[in-house]
Amino acid sequence: MSEITDPRAPIRVRQEARMRLLDVTSVTHITPLMRRIRATGDLTGFASAGHADHIKAFFFPDGIEPKLAPIGERGAEFAPGERPEMRDYTPRYWNVAEGWIELDFVLHGDGPASSWAAQAAVGQKLVIGGPRGSLVIPAAFDWYLLAGDETALPALGRRIEELPAGSKIVAVIEVADAAEEQTFETSADVSLTYVYRDGQPAGSTSLILDAIKAASFPDGVAYAYVAGESAMSKAVRAHLTDERGFNPEYVKAAGYWLLGTADAHEPH
Ligand SMILES: Cc1cc2nc3c(=O)[nH]c(=O)nc-3n(C[C@H](O)[C@H](O)[C@H](O)COP(=O)(O)OP(=O)(O)OC[C@H]3O[C@@H](n4cnc5c(N)ncnc54)[C@H](O)[C@@H]3O)c2cc1C
Repeated sequence: MSEITDPRAPIRVRQEARMRLLDVTSVTHITPLMRRIRATGDLTGFASAGHADHIKAFFFPDGIEPKLAPIGERGAEFAPGERPEMRDYTPRYWNVAEGWIELDFVLHGDGPASSWAAQAAVGQKLVIGGPRGSLVIPAAFDWYLLAGDETALPALGRRIEELPAGSKIVAVIEVADAAEEQTFETSADVSLTYVYRDGQPAGSTSLILDAIKAASFPDGVAYAYVAGESAMSKAVRAHLTDERGFNPEYVKAAGYWLLGTADAHEPH
């Protein structure tokens, strides 16, 4: 008897975790609060099959030149006093043959990653590691709900650009104000709503949840990807599963950051 497999089941792809020491070769102000950093070097073996994949970016203490370290059982083994901070970023665009990757950094204020991106300049070094793996969501759903704040713009943008022609997408994205909107190259059928904080601090509003509550959804089976501030993500997940009939297996709600806590992220 042949096994029946769910064509909608997410597929996990593992990758060899590799660290790379790259050169910053361009810094683009894509919007006032979003810096696109292109880093160039040996990208041999780099792959990112999932729109929500992440690499680790390493930020070294003052006075320590970015460098690679041997990988031990518990990850990269840096000398005491040289240990970098690590933060997660989405591979936005890359080209293995040409040897470059682009990451989009939100300039949110304090924090080693945001502070580094704000001062990044051509000629500096950047160490990245991964992705260690990918979660690939098949393009087998009737429609897709995408929601998140600006930290999720790279992942949501990838999904909008990577889904095949004709895919139906409903997207709600929270940004600081209209100047932070991005547009996407896509042949999918996208209904995109931006909501603006207009002066309120990031992570302090219910704008995304309110917009989703007010939205009428297409018919059929959907996959929802929600990412951004952790409490927002949890609340949207609860609304979708408890009040809108979403199958919990088809909702991925990721905490990309947690208001008031450094280096915090969690899947829900
Ligand atoms: C899988 C994944 C993919 C991600 N992809 C991206 C990406 O492509 N681009 C991107 O910009 N971010 C992305 N993030 C989010 C990013 O990793 C976090 O925002 C991270 O905390 C930034 O590090 P930091 O050193 O700047 O601040 P931290 O040292 O971690 O935090 C310092 C303070 O800043 C606050 N803070 C952190 N982020 C924000 C924010 N966005 N707005 C307001 N306050 C904040 C914290 O609550 C804390 O109080 C991703 C996260 C995950 C888990």
